[in-house]
Amino acid sequence: MGLIVQKYGGTSVRDAERVMNVANRIVEAYDAGNNVVVAVSAQGDTTDNLIEKAMEINSNASKREMDVLLSTGEQISISLLAMAIEKIGRPVISLTGWQAGFKTDAAYSNARIDRIDTERLQNEIDKRRIVIVAGFQGINKYGDITTLGRGGSDTSAVALAAALNADICEIYTDVDGVYTADPRIVKNAKKLDDISYDEMLELASLGANVLHNRSVEMAKKYHVKLAVKSSLNKVEGTLVKEVNKVEKMLVRGVTRDNDVARISLCGVEDTPGKAFTVFSLISKENIGVDLILQSIGNNGKKDISFTVKESDLDRVIEILEENKEIINAQEIKFAKDVSKVSIVGAGMVNNAGVATKMFEALYNAHININMIATSEIKISVLVPRKDAERAVVAIHDKFMLA
Ligand code: ASP
Ligand code: MG
Repeated sequence: MGLIVQKYGGTSVRDAERVMNVANRIVEAYDAGNNVVVAVSAQGDTTDNLIEKAMEINSNASKREMDVLLSTGEQISISLLAMAIEKIGRPVISLTGWQAGFKTDAAYSNARIDRIDTERLQNEIDKRRIVIVAGFQGINKYGDITTLGRGGSDTSAVALAAALNADICEIYTDVDGVYTADPRIVKNAKKLDDISYDEMLELASLGANVLHNRSVEMAKKYHVKLAVKSSLNKVEGTLVKEVNKVEKMLVRGVTRDNDVARISLCGVEDTPGKAFTVFSLISKENIGVDLILQSIGNNGKKDISFTVKESDLDRVIEILEENKEIINAQEIKFAKDVSKVSIVGAGMVNNAGVATKMFEALYNAHININMIATSEIKISVLVPRKDAERAVVAIHDKFMLA
């Protein structure tokens, strides 16, 4: 029939029973006549537990050694899954990332895939073997093991599908697909039948924990047809593809991101170049700035507020302190108790009322907006963290149930 790449996440292979379940599903696809290449994640909480183990010994361990450690989680999964398929009696082979030809750059712990040398993979496929590949890992030009960043197995799978020219890349997880909001927060969230790459990329970047955003980027770039499905049932999942024509919803999803902190520089001089000074200091350290708000000047002074990832906050405060004299603000304030709530949808570009409707939903729920940012495909607001879940529910109700 064709070539299918499948990816199974940590919860899908968390114990022996789940590994056997996955093995049976792989064999089903194989027995239907397909060639099957599978990328797997580490079992359950393995990666978190390995990080904890490292912390017990050295909380400042080098990223190189962290990669050596974390890559072992996936190596356990591939061997166990291959053993399960052996037991069912089909030809199978497991390969680590480097055996499978994943060549990455040298950015330990957050490496990018440069290419996959597919010779070995192709040989195994030609022998009609099921190939089980360790996700999340590769090798760099120094011959060192690298990992692709948390959640990176999705990207491994899409890279395999692109390199092998697969017919489809199926991402199996413990939810039925991509939802209009996190079903744990919004009880009546709906599963989407399909979604465009651009919308999915925004959702993934804005805190919907379904797909690694780099996997979506890559799928778009190489036109990989992506399906997100559950490994626990046979429900039709969500198809991620170029354009969606099936559903005409204006807003496709509502997300919440708690990894946000707000910084305010109050009373800085209202002269040209201030924003440039501040943000170049921060970007020089490779720290991303997200929402930005600048007040209109008053008495020669203005305020500049912006958000960064909460995990970057300490470093940003340090940078600002180190450069106090140049920035010359009357006061530097910061807040961690904020969340970013966003709506995403390609259809809202030409729809003036969308922002109003979102703000109205928040107003009706008595939720105060700190900051606002809009683009062609999304609107984000910063709200108090304690109100974030209520905000998601209120906005979801307004758009999806109206
Ligand atoms: N095991 C890695 C992690 O937990 C990679 C992945 O699951 O995609 O982040
Ligand atoms: Mg994941």
